[in-house]
Amino acid sequence: MSDKAQEKTFVKEITPQSEDFSRWYLDVIRKADLMDYAPVKGCIVFKPDGYELWELIQRELDARFKETGHRNAYFPIFIPESFFRKEKEHVEGFNPELPWVTEAGGEQLEERLAIRPTSETMIGHMYARWIHSWRDLPVLINQWANVVRWEKRTLPFLRTSEFLWQEGHTAHETEEEARQETMRMLEIYRDFVENFLAIPVIAGQKTPSEKFAGAVDTYSIEAMMKDGRAVQAGTSHYLGQNFARAFDIQFLDRENKQQYVHTTSWGVSTRLIGALIMVHGDDRGLALPPKVAPTQVILIPIGPAKAREQVVAKAHELHRELKAAGLRARVDDRPEYSPGWKFNEYEMRGVPLRIELGPRDMENGQAVLVSRVSGEKRIVKQDEIVSETVRMLDEIQREMYANAKRFMEERLASVDTLDELKIRMEEKRGFYLAGWCGSAACEHQVKEESGATSRNIPFEVPEHKSVCLVCGEKARHTVVFARAY
Ligand SMILES: [Zn+2]
Repeated sequence: MSDKAQEKTFVKEITPQSEDFSRWYLDVIRKADLMDYAPVKGCIVFKPDGYELWELIQRELDARFKETGHRNAYFPIFIPESFFRKEKEHVEGFNPELPWVTEAGGEQLEERLAIRPTSETMIGHMYARWIHSWRDLPVLINQWANVVRWEKRTLPFLRTSEFLWQEGHTAHETEEEARQETMRMLEIYRDFVENFLAIPVIAGQKTPSEKFAGAVDTYSIEAMMKDGRAVQAGTSHYLGQNFARAFDIQFLDRENKQQYVHTTSWGVSTRLIGALIMVHGDDRGLALPPKVAPTQVILIPIGPAKAREQVVAKAHELHRELKAAGLRARVDDRPEYSPGWKFNEYEMRGVPLRIELGPRDMENGQAVLVSRVSGEKRIVKQDEIVSETVRMLDEIQREMYANAKRFMEERLASVDTLDELKIRMEEKRGFYLAGWCGSAACEHQVKEESGATSRNIPFEVPEHKSVCLVCGEKARHTVVFARAY
């Protein structure tokens, strides 16, 4: 098959975003070999290319957690039913999604065990044993784990019954300190998602009906996908003394009085992979920001058979230099695939930078660098390859963030009434700022009539709305409404 013919067949396999965004998403994750469907409904297999994205996310976040004084630990996956009964809101929030183990070792269990949906209860139980005095505080622990929430409607990476995540759980002497921790971790998430994943977000506080079951306050960062829908990219909760009272986590304070600790929890999950794909991908496939791309640079030797040996040798030499500089580079010198096929393949897989090297480049002592995102080509001297690659990857990272930011700003508008929200939402799906009086009934009506939910109450808004979009009473907050994954 000629290059042209191969290109045509290739393109046909990914549905264009404008035609059917969901289809596009499913096509891309399959074609890029990130996952496969598991035999258990709602569960997926992370294949090596998908799992590697998670490993890179994990490595970067783990370093940031440790820099801020946190350490990792591991708690059991099974949680006794009685633990859930101790925090009323928590059990009501999670009960419908819990799978239970009722039998093991051929016998009925005396108490059934839930497979963890989150670990506040288990960790609360353990903290009560570990914390006795103000000298034991703060406790700053993170756990990397899998959790299960039995979902009725699932979508690979974005909503699956079992997923991977990290959950931080901290305990503090005072409310002030715990609230500082809550905000510190939200800020770590914001900085990570914006600067590492190149995804702009809106940071703010969840409304009471959208907060975590058992929390006093929940904060989130919300990202906009290319179809205008929202993904909650990370959350941080101030749990007050709710779990401390439920699990009796008490300590002797500096005045020798018994007090309950103040706790926090915070998490991000493998849904970040789904967000990465939906924010940056295009009709050619995945597009990965350099910082998180498992392969940052792909070297492709080109040319007729007689020049091949020399070109391939040079490609490997450049490859060694790039690796020595700490870059994640690979060479594809397979003779059985044409250069055109390879160009398409690595564009589809989202590799941010391609280096082409042919016989003419050899004569001129140069190579051609091509950006996945803009298609820009740069002819670079071979002895400047490393420095130019580093520079270009940095530019691509910033360009991807800027593109995503522009997209989000173009689809962020404000509305005054629910009718206006409904009309605008039909015309152009996106984030809509509106005033809200604070009543759950008004918030519920927005959801019922428009399908949009309150995403959060942003810390910063371009304008404060004065009246509630539903009842017309005085607005207490300006809220972002959007349809969400
Ligand atoms: Zn209202």
